[in-house]
Amino acid sequence: MKVIAIDGPSGAGKGTIAKKVASILNYTYIDTGAMYRCVSLKSLRNNISESDEESITNLLKEMNIELSNDGKVYLDNEDVSEEIRTVEVTRRVSKISSIIELRKVMKIKQREFANNNNVVMEGRDITTEVFPNADYKFYLDASVEERAKRRYLQNKEKNISISLEEVKKMIEERDYDDMHRPVGSLTRTEDQIYIDSSDKSIDEVVKIIIDIVGE
Ligand code: C5P
Repeated sequence: MKVIAIDGPSGAGKGTIAKKVASILNYTYIDTGAMYRCVSLKSLRNNISESDEESITNLLKEMNIELSNDGKVYLDNEDVSEEIRTVEVTRRVSKISSIIELRKVMKIKQREFANNNNVVMEGRDITTEVFPNADYKFYLDASVEERAKRRYLQNKEKNISISLEEVKKMIEERDYDDMHRPVGSLTRTEDQIYIDSSDKSIDEVVKIIIDIVGE
């Protein structure tokens, strides 16, 4: 099955772009960040400490995550698409995703999606760890100012009131954590196709990818 892997920092537009590319090509769209967010949410609900690595890894083994092609996320059959984006869930997700055992289990689950489907999968370590031999590997980037502005506007639409400065600070902290963990870190490599979306529209980036993939 074919795999288009897209990595990049938060707010680079990976989600929106991957979803559109998948829809055009009729591939399955997989948001791996949403999977880590589900673990973060469930650990919050179950009052499990961020540092209890074993319990958190076991949570993932027991949970059922379903991702629909329109971007909806179901945790044990419950629609948690909104709840996994709250500030509380976001704040603990980088810490949780640095658990090495958890990442091993996650990798197995993520690879299974491509067993029977062509997939567009986006995250932080898809081009490097999950599918190093993907058919196409992209690194989608944008300046931190632009990413903060986009996230700030998204929040505003959802009536989440956080200042632009605070959003930028949270993004910078998460970038740092995601780029500096020992396993599954966000990394740029020679064989990724690098796209800076700072001054491009969503559709321009989608077109670049579709032209390269050439279907
Ligand atoms: O993409 P999104 O911002 O929703 O991802 C949330 C978090 O999940 C990231 O900040 C990162 O810590 C973690 N993640 C990861 N590996 C992936 C995807 C996301 O560690 N492949």
